[in-house]
Order: sequence, then structure tokens, then C-alpha cells
Amino acid sequence: MYNVRMMRRAAACFLFLAAGVAAGQTYDLVLRGGRVMDPESGLDAVRDVGISGGVIRAVSPGRLEGKTVADVSGLVVAPGFIDLHRHGQDPLTYRLQALDGVTSGLELEIGTDDVAGWYAAREGKTLVNFGTSVGHPPIRRAVTGDTGRREATPEEIAEIGRRLDEGLRLGAPTAGFGLAYTPAASRLEIMEMYRIVARHGAVGHVHMRSAAGGGSPVEALQEMIAVAAVTGASVQVVHINSTALKYTREMLEMIEGARARGLDITTEAYPYTAGSTSIQAALFDTWIDKPESEYRKLMWTATGERLTRETFLKYRKTGGRVIVFTNTEDMVDAAIEHPLTMIASDGVGYQDGTGHPRSAGCYARILGHYVRGKKSLTLMEALRKMTLAPARRLEHRVPGMRDKGRIRPGADADITIFDAATVIDRSTYEKPAEPSAGIRHVLVNGTFVVRDARIVDGAAPGRPIRAPILTR
Ligand SMILES: [Zn+2]
Repeated sequence: MYNVRMMRRAAACFLFLAAGVAAGQTYDLVLRGGRVMDPESGLDAVRDVGISGGVIRAVSPGRLEGKTVADVSGLVVAPGFIDLHRHGQDPLTYRLQALDGVTSGLELEIGTDDVAGWYAAREGKTLVNFGTSVGHPPIRRAVTGDTGRREATPEEIAEIGRRLDEGLRLGAPTAGFGLAYTPAASRLEIMEMYRIVARHGAVGHVHMRSAAGGGSPVEALQEMIAVAAVTGASVQVVHINSTALKYTREMLEMIEGARARGLDITTEAYPYTAGSTSIQAALFDTWIDKPESEYRKLMWTATGERLTRETFLKYRKTGGRVIVFTNTEDMVDAAIEHPLTMIASDGVGYQDGTGHPRSAGCYARILGHYVRGKKSLTLMEALRKMTLAPARRLEHRVPGMRDKGRIRPGADADITIFDAATVIDRSTYEKPAEPSAGIRHVLVNGTFVVRDARIVDGAAPGRPIRAPILTR
């Protein structure tokens, strides 16, 4: 009896909903007459988009009605951009990334050793969706008390592994590795960690070993291919642009070859010829005996000055960030334009307005420079690299990602609306916090965070991107 009543109620409810649609439903918000582009279905046409309860409910060639209607004719309506590599996780960088079209920003490279605390600190307070990996570097530092330059004992490796496992149980979407920052982590230690990653069906995002130690980035990639083959884990090679350098094409070919043999290895890049990191990082340990000209490749972010051997040694004692100009346009283009490569900013936080332009301009730069300027990417292909591909990378372990990176009924209303004719980055090495231009409106879970190219003050619709939490 109880079940029959339940079924009747459900049937009545369904009929009511169906009638509502047929009679011309009024949505919370309608985006009217934009050029809707969805990389999953290939849809590229003028449509109305109806949104209610933070979710896309209808994508229609006919006119939809809404309590609020935004005329977006002449603009592209795309899934919100998903950045898998974003260290800056503070209010200023959230604002700049929203103005660059990013609706989900995740710190998946270095990550945290306190997954629960990291999420709790942001819940209900952020402009955009957020997430973090559980990080091998911070865990290793906490366990060994060392900066990555000392080999860990078997007991320490066991404890690092235990904490990595714990972080994955707490719902970190992925595990993060920074082998260039922990050069003393042995190949066996890393193999052991990826066994844990594999058990959770997670991806291990890795900044591979540094070529600075005399090795080659090709060998660093060979290590990760072996790790994937031996452990069965998924691997995301972060910023192939700044890691592969002159071997960019060859290393992309290696990844293609590994994938053709069934290994799950993917990669990402950011569209700049310079990187940015701490001058005290272990990857600069081998820089003390470089020819004088090499130091000119380093820019001290606090002042904009190029370094000499003398100032390099001086600042290495005090600590701070440097911009590292070690790449060429040709290598970066090869990385960005390759079909395997996702776009990810590696955006860092700002210190007194100094930082790296990628934190504010990465995505608009792809749209303005590569799609409109060079025409080396189609708009749809660029959007795929910025939305669908990163969503798919996480959705095996984070089911909620199946409803991101798409414009279709049932998808989260994370939407970026921009003018394809004018969108462009404006941040530079000298002025790295200039917001991008041409990003007109941005919705996160159905709420405007950018409206008419301005941040909506007080909006905090961002939600955690997190895998299911496992109880013991
Ligand atoms: Zn990195």
C-alpha cells in the first residue's frame, strides 16, 4: 500500500513537471540568443539556455522565458573553464580567475597535507569551485622535516604513504607530486606512492624530475611511463611546456606512444614562455655554477630586475619568487596546439601585486592569441582543452565532474560568456594582476560571479570539487 501511494505520488509529480515544460516553463534565468558551444556534443548554434536551481534545464532553439533574462546575443556561451593547476587559492586570485572565465580552479600539483582543513577553510566562501590534491611534497616535508634533499628511511616512506592514502580517503580528487622539488625522493619511493594512487583509482599529477640535476626531461618522462606501467596508476604530467623545453615534440610523441599501449598518461600546458617558482627550491641547487648569461633568464618578481650570479646568490639566502625565462614561443606553441594537451594555468598567488601573468590571463590568452590571432586552434578545440578534457580527467573518481565542462540539460550551470572578437589577456610580467578583457558574464552554479565584465561583490557560489569521502 505504502509503495503504491509512493508510486502514485511520483507519477503525479512527473506529470506536473512534464506539463510545466509543455506549457512554457519560467526558468530562474534565461541566457537569450547566445552562440552556444558544447565540446561534447559538438553543438555550435544560437540557442536559449534555461537555468533553474543552479542547473541547466533546457537548451532550446525556441524562445525560453525566465524570471531573469540576460540578452547574450553576439556572445559565445561556453562551459565554464576548468583549471586543474592553480596554486593561488585566495580571494584576489579567485577574482582574477573568474574574470579570465575560470569557474573551477584546483590546486592539483603540490596540494596539501591537510585535505579536510583545506576544504573546510573555503566552504561557502568562494567565488568559484575549488579543490586540492593530497600532496606528496608537503606530506614528505612534514614526515621527514626535510626540504626534499634527503632520502627518506623505509619507516618514513611507510608513513608518507599512510598519510597519502588518508588524504585520498578524505576525498582529495587526486594526488600531487613535485619531484623537481623533492629530488631525494627515490624512484622506489615514488613507485610506492603511485601504488596507493592506483588503489584509489586516482590520477597522480606530477611536476617531473628536473633536468637541472644533469638528467634529461626525456628520462624524467620515462620514469613516469614506467610508474604508470608498473603500478597501473593514471598520470598527469603537469606543464609539459616548462618541463619538456626543447624536447616538447618528442615528449608529446612519447606520451602518445604510451597511451597507444594502454597507459593512462595525459598532460597540460600554459601559454607563456616563462615559469615562476621559489628561488630557494631544490631545482636551483645546480644553478650555483652557471655561466653568467644563464642568470639573466631569471627575473626577480619583487623588482622586475634580471639577475646576475651575485644577486642570484644574494636572493637565494633571503628567499622569494623568480620568473624563469627558459622557453621559446615555438616550444610553447607545440605544447598548446597538440591535441593531447589540456590548458592549465599553474597560476600562483600574488605578493604585493607581484606574480606571474598566467594567474590572471591564461585562458583569455588562449582565446585571443591562439584562436583569434594565430588561428592555430579552432574555438571549439580550445574550449575542449579548457572544459571537457579536464572534466573528463577527474570524473572517474569525482562523479560530479560528469556534470561540468558541458552545456546540456542536467549539467551544472557553470558558464562563461565572452566576446570571441575581443577576448584577450592584459596581464604582463610587469603588471601580472591586470584582469582579462572580453569575458562578459560568468556563472558558477547558476549564480553570476561576473556580470557585464565586473565581479559581483559578495557572491560565493563556489562549491568543493571532491571525491566521495571513505569511512573505514
Ligand atoms: Zn610545477
